[in-house]
Formats: sequence, C-alpha cells, structure tokens
Amino acid sequence: MRTHSDVVIVGGGVIGSSIAYRLASVGLSVTVVERDSIGSHASGYALGLLNPTSCTGSIESLSHQSFVMHQQMLEEVEHESGVDVQALHVPHIELALKQSEVPVMMQEHDRIAAFPNFTCDWIQPDEIRRLDSRITHEVYGGLFIDKVIAIDSYNFTLATAQAAEFKGVEYVSDEAVGLVYDRDRVTGVMVGDDCINCGTAVLALGPWSGAVSAWVDIDIPVVPQKGEILRVEGLSPRLNFHIHGFTLGSSCSILQKADGAIWLAATVQDDTGFDVTPSVDARESLILRGIRMMPELEWQRMLLQTACMRPVTPDGDPILGKIPGKEGLFIASGTGGQGILLAPVIGSSMADLISTGKSDIDITRFGMERFLAI
Ligand SMILES: Cc1cc2nc3c(=O)[nH]c(=O)nc-3n(C[C@H](O)[C@H](O)[C@H](O)COP(=O)(O)OP(=O)(O)OC[C@H]3O[C@@H](n4cnc5c(N)ncnc54)[C@H](O)[C@@H]3O)c2cc1C
Repeated sequence: MRTHSDVVIVGGGVIGSSIAYRLASVGLSVTVVERDSIGSHASGYALGLLNPTSCTGSIESLSHQSFVMHQQMLEEVEHESGVDVQALHVPHIELALKQSEVPVMMQEHDRIAAFPNFTCDWIQPDEIRRLDSRITHEVYGGLFIDKVIAIDSYNFTLATAQAAEFKGVEYVSDEAVGLVYDRDRVTGVMVGDDCINCGTAVLALGPWSGAVSAWVDIDIPVVPQKGEILRVEGLSPRLNFHIHGFTLGSSCSILQKADGAIWLAATVQDDTGFDVTPSVDARESLILRGIRMMPELEWQRMLLQTACMRPVTPDGDPILGKIPGKEGLFIASGTGGQGILLAPVIGSSMADLISTGKSDIDITRFGMERFLAI
C-alpha cells in the first residue's frame, strides 16, 4: 500500500471507480480503498439500464449528458481493460396499462421528443402486438423510444476499475476507518492503523455514506434503499425491447440481457436498513408484475434473485462536490436508481473539480449545502 497519493477515494463502486479513472487520466496519483470486492454491491447487481428519458427534474440534463458520455466511455474502458461490458442497444417501450395513463404519456411524449438523442412515438395496442405478440394485449398504447442502452453493471464497474488500474490507480482491499485532519484540511485516510497521506479525499461510499457523518462533523443525508431483482430463463426468440410499465402499485422493467436471461426489476423498499436478504414478497411481486406485462413469463424458470441498496437522499438528487467546512474533502453519492447511468458525468465533473477547482459540467445545484440551509 502506498503511503501517499494525491487523491484517496473511499469506495470502489461505479462512482468511486469512475472518479479514479478520470483523475488518473489527468495524471494524478490515486488510491481507492474498497473493503469488499469490486462491484459486490449495487454497482455489480443493478439492472444496468442507461435510459435518461426516464430522468426528470434536476438530473434530467445531467443524465442526458452522461448518456452521451457513456457511449465513448464504454468503448474506452472495454478497450483498456479487455472486459466486455455486454452493451445492447434496445428500443424502450413504456406501456400504458391503464386508460388513465394515456394523457400523462402524451405529455411525456412531448418532453422526450424534445431531446435530440431519441425519437419517441406514441404506438397503438395493435402496433405493440405487431412488435412482439408476447406483450400483454390488455394495454391502451405506449411510448416507443429508440434507443436506450443496457449493459452488464458488474462488467462495467470492473472494466472501469481495471482501466483505472491500468492508468496507475492503486486499489487497496481494506476498510477505511477515518480521516486525518490538520485543522479543517484533510491530510490522510486511515486504513486500520495505517494512514494514506493525501491532499484530497473523496467519499464515495454509496449507501454507507451517511454512516461516516462523524468523520466530517455534519450529517450526510444518504440512506440505503433496498432493491430486488429476479432473473428468469430467457425467452426464445429473444425479447428485443426494454419493456416498462406501472402495475400492482409499482413499476417494473422486463429486459432480456446479453447473456440471455430475462431480468425483472426492481422493488423499492425503504426503512430496511442494510438488510440485503432476498424476500419472498419481492419475488412474488416481481413475478406478478412481469406476468401482467408479458403473460408468457409465467412459465419461465427462476434463475436468481438478488438484493442490493440504492444510495438515496431526501430530495432524490445526488450529492456532488465539496464537504462544507472542510478543505480537500469531497463527496459523490446519493445516485439512487441512476448511478450506472450517471457514472461518466460524475467521474468527469468530480475529477475536473478536484484537479482544477471548476468544471464545465454544471453540478453546483447538487452541492451538499442545499441540506444545510434547511
Ligand atoms: C435494484 C437496483 C437496480 C438498479 N438499476 C439501475 C439501472 O438500471 N441503471 C442505473 O443507472 N442505476 C441503477 N441502480 C443504481 C446504481 O446501482 C447505484 O446508484 C450505484 O451503483 C451506486 O454506486 P456507488 O458506487 O455510489 O455505490 P456502491 O456500489 O454501493 O459502492 C460503494 C462502495 O463503498 C464501499 N465502502 C463502503 N464503506 C466503506 C469503507 N468504510 N471503506 C472502504 N469501502 C467502503 C462498499 O463496499 C461499496 O463497494 C440500481 C440500483 C438497485 C439497487
């Protein structure tokens, strides 16, 4: 383990690794401290859908920027690491499963069609059946969006980490236990009894970010939100769309991934703490929602059920930037259900901020100050 790096990042998920990758690209020495294996949490188990058209509010523009950056980053990290991120370009079909959803979707149509990277069309039930007759016939129409990207989240996180290592980043497989300060300036990160001295530290602990509030003397408002996914046997012929709809009180995605398995995603469970035990309730709910949209799924054998945690903030937006009141200390967390999509834009903007003090990508509205003012 090095005793000094320009930057030490705590957390080697997709966010910490993307920042490390970009910092190393501008020539800084970087250490990432990761207590588990790379991609062993949400960054390795997420659905892996890159769909900025579903992002509204403050992160809408940032997510579209990230989608564009992803297309270059996927190629780069694949090339530098030799890891296949299993990218699929698939149309997205948003189903109106209730008549009352139709007017809302018409408004959505206008919003999405305004973005240059996507075409968006309203399609009638008979057109949906012509696209794939296995999609439910109990539908009032839908939006057809061409095209979103689905990747393997684990492979993408691994590829980014390995590409970062290739550029000189050191990954330390251990737990960070605290920060060292000289007055309010960070001078090191404690790993066991050892200190890695640094000019800058970045907190990228995902759902564990709130747990290190004591390190920074202010409350970091990030909590875990449990999400479960069911993988079932693939359909043949392949399902060539990402299907999404709201049913049984929640949303559901159906996606046949590059390895052939169908993923049904995902549950949203608050107040479960750090528990990631797969539950019977989640399994039954995901199956029912999947069958409502594609009845044929009733006969597909279950392959795997996974559970992991989204890092969420009170307003649903990420926290990006400096930790108020400290020098040389940054945070990148709270990416909720969009961290895989946002990784390139967060990696680049945070690296700009750390290496030059500013970024052309406007992340000022995501500063932690917004919570201190309340
Ligand atoms: C069910 C589900 C589906 C999702 N689907 C999508 C999707 O389709 N598209 C999308 O864009 N996003 C999706 N997401 C969201 C995405 O997975 C997350 O936003 C993203 O992975 C968060 O990345 P992270 O690096 O911040 O956190 P994590 O992946 O949790 O990584 C944080 C890391 O910090 C490490 N750590 C914590 N404490 C310490 C410590 N003290 N010392 C050292 N290491 C430490 C942990 O071990 C962990 O590896 C989904 C999330 C869930 C739960």
